[in-house]
Amino acid sequence: MKYDIVIIGAGPAGLSFARSLKDSSLKVLLVERSSLETLRTPPEDGREIALTHLSVEMMKDSGAWQQLAKDDVSPICAAKVLDGDSSYTLNFDNTEADLDALGYLVPNDKIRKAYFEVVEGIDNLELLTETSVEDVGSTTENAWVQLSNGDRVECDLLVSADSRFSETRRKMGVPASMKDFSRTAIVCRMEHSVPHNQTAFECFHYGRTLAILPMTGNLSSIVVTVSSAEADSIFNMSEEAFAADIEQRLQGQLGNMKLYGRRHLYPLVAVHANKFISRRFAVIGDAAVGMHPVTAHGFNLGLRSQETLAKEIKSALAQSRDIGSASVLEKYQTNHMRVTKPLYMGTNLVVGLFTNDNFAAKVVRKATLRVANNFAPLKQIITRKLTEKKIDIPFFLPGLK
Ligand SMILES: Cc1cc2nc3c(=O)[nH]c(=O)nc-3n(C[C@H](O)[C@H](O)[C@H](O)COP(=O)(O)OP(=O)(O)OC[C@H]3O[C@@H](n4cnc5c(N)ncnc54)[C@H](O)[C@@H]3O)c2cc1C
Repeated sequence: MKYDIVIIGAGPAGLSFARSLKDSSLKVLLVERSSLETLRTPPEDGREIALTHLSVEMMKDSGAWQQLAKDDVSPICAAKVLDGDSSYTLNFDNTEADLDALGYLVPNDKIRKAYFEVVEGIDNLELLTETSVEDVGSTTENAWVQLSNGDRVECDLLVSADSRFSETRRKMGVPASMKDFSRTAIVCRMEHSVPHNQTAFECFHYGRTLAILPMTGNLSSIVVTVSSAEADSIFNMSEEAFAADIEQRLQGQLGNMKLYGRRHLYPLVAVHANKFISRRFAVIGDAAVGMHPVTAHGFNLGLRSQETLAKEIKSALAQSRDIGSASVLEKYQTNHMRVTKPLYMGTNLVVGLFTNDNFAAKVVRKATLRVANNFAPLKQIITRKLTEKKIDIPFFLPGLK
C-alpha cells in the first residue's frame, strides 16, 4: 500500500495537519490508536487551551473554529500574575493592548472534536483507527510503517504527531531533550459564586502554583502545580476539602467554590526535539515540542508546526519537487526551530525562577514582576508573545518587531 503522506496520531496536531492537506493532490493516510467513537466524541480531559490570535486565525481558515459552539469559547480579557504571599500583581489587560481579548480559552476535547468534524470525509484522506504503529523506517526512496493490523504501508513522507513521548521519533533516530520538572499539574473545573470577569490568574505561591482560567459563566479551569511527591495526596483529597483549600488560597476572590467534574493529573515533562526531521520524516505538534503549560503555548506551537510543514509541502508540489526530500524538510525545520527555541527556553526559565523559593530567587521574582509592570516596552513584548498579535512597540526597539 502506497501513500504520499502517512500521519501518525490523530490528536489536534495530526488532525489539523490532515485538514491543511485537504485541497492538495496528495493521497494521505492518518493512523490513530484510539477508536473512531473517541475521535468523534473526545472525552473531557481537563485541559483548557488558551489560544492566541494567530491560532484562532488558523482555526478559522480551516473551518474548525466555526464548528465550536458559542459556549465552548471564553475570551480572556485580563491576566494577573501574583508572586509568593504578596498581593502585588503584574497586570495584562486587553484594553491596554487594544484587543478584543488577550486570548480565547477552549476545552481541548472541543478543539479535537471540531477538527475531526472538518477532517472526516475528506476525499484524499484515509483514516485508520484502533490501529497503532509497531515499527517505522525509511530508505532514500520511501518511508515505511508497520501497522498493528499486520499491514505495511509505504509513503514519500512520514509525519509523526504521536505526542511528546513519541515512539516513532525515537525509532527514526531523532533525539530530544527532556526536562522533568518533578512537578505534577492537577487540573479541574470549578464553579464559583463570584464572577471571574474574564480574568485569568497565575499565582506563583511558594511551594505550589495556582492558575485560574475563566470559562463560560461562573466556571473556571483550575491548574494546581505541586511537587510530584505531594500530588497524589492532593489529588485524593475529598471534593469538599479540595474546594475549601482552593477557596482559601484565592482568599475568597471567587466566592464559594465547588468541583465541577473530575480532577486530572499531568506529570510535567517538557520536550524539545533536537531536530524536527530525518530521512523522509518530520515531527509536528508535541512530538516536535511539548511545552510546560505555564505560558500556554503547546498547541499554539503545534498549529504553527503543521501549518509551516504544510506550506513547504504545497510549495514543493507546485514546483513538482519530491515532498519528502531533505531540502523541503530542512526549510520546515529552520522556520519552526526559529519560533520554538526561544519560547521553549524562555518558558523553562520562567518555571525555574518562579518555582525556586530560595531567598535570592524570591528577590528576583518580586523585581521581575515590578520591572515587567512598569517598563511599557517589555510589557508589550510579553503581551505580543502571549497573544501572538502584532502590537506596536516603540521606535527605539525596532529590532524586536
Ligand atoms: C494541563 C495542560 C494544559 C495545557 N494548556 C495549554 C494551553 O493553554 N495552550 C496550549 O496551546 N497548549 C496547552 N497544552 C498543551 C496541549 O494540550 C498539547 O500541546 C496538545 O494537546 C498536543 O497535541 P498533539 O496532537 O501534538 O498530541 P496529543 O494530543 O498527545 O495526541 C497524540 C495522538 O497520537 C496518538 N498516538 C500516539 N502514539 C501512537 C501510535 N504509536 N500509533 C497510533 N497513534 C498514536 C494518540 O492516541 C493521540 O491521539 C496544555 C497541556 C496540558 C497537559
